[in-house]
Amino acid sequence: MEVRERKQQEQETLKEKLRVKWNTRDFTPKEDHTNILTMNVFFFMILSLSVEALIFLIPSVFPESTWIMRGVMLFMIIETVINWHRSYFDTDNYVKAELKQKHFPDTVDTPADWVACIKCQVDRPPRAFHCNHCGKCMLKRVHHCFLTGSCIGFYNQRFFVIFCLWSTITSGFCLYLQLTYLNMDLPLNTVACFTYIPPVAIVQFFTGYLSFGQTLLIFHFSLTIVAFFTALFFFLWHVFLVYEGLTLHEGFKRIYTYSGTLKQHVQLIFGSYLYIPVLIFIPYRFELVGDGVNWKVRPKRVKGQ
Ligand SMILES: [Zn+2]
Ligand SMILES: [Zn+2]
Repeated sequence: MEVRERKQQEQETLKEKLRVKWNTRDFTPKEDHTNILTMNVFFFMILSLSVEALIFLIPSVFPESTWIMRGVMLFMIIETVINWHRSYFDTDNYVKAELKQKHFPDTVDTPADWVACIKCQVDRPPRAFHCNHCGKCMLKRVHHCFLTGSCIGFYNQRFFVIFCLWSTITSGFCLYLQLTYLNMDLPLNTVACFTYIPPVAIVQFFTGYLSFGQTLLIFHFSLTIVAFFTALFFFLWHVFLVYEGLTLHEGFKRIYTYSGTLKQHVQLIFGSYLYIPVLIFIPYRFELVGDGVNWKVRPKRVKGQ
């Protein structure tokens, strides 16, 4: 009897613990409508491309090595989704009230180089910025990404760069599959190439020239083109930001106060050059250089040097 009571008590305590943990969880508020819309666009694209490629396109385009290519495709999808997930969790970037307490325990006023945020009522360190979409100040805020519904900052920029890389590779591979498949019935080097334009495809569908499946694929193909170029743009843009050691704000305002050598820039984002090839395949949280709070002010860079 006693044992049962103790078990029941333990269960209640565990339930209570879980309840407290759930109520005090520190998830990013993803209530912004644009966030929700664009995150759904991402899920729609990754899901539709996966189904389309794995079930329909790969067996037709690679009849000899269907299972190998399915494995390759699955690997790309997993890498994209895992890095999306890592970018989504920006909680480490939050500037909390305790941060100043930790670094300046005896200071009541806002420390030099820090800024008092009137919106979230915290003092934020240099390079941190307030995000209106997240409603918080973020450590080394690069920009807000609607696709991941989170702020890209000090801790998650490395995963976002790799996410952009895998998104480019995955959508690029899907573009190749779609083009090869469509080219079998609608050769691109003939007048049939006009069918690849969605409004023309609709007209041809209603006149009986195209099947429903082909029309759908042409529409999906145009969406994949947008996805591919968006991912490529963000990837190249972030490569540039890493190269220059800048955030979006610093880039626009041409603030080179915190930029140093290329090695320092890479270390700040990835931890080390050596971690980059590992991070491409395993999104492990390697130790970063710095804490996102204390920044070394570099000597002024003169244009052309
Ligand atoms: Zn703020
Ligand atoms: Zn944000």
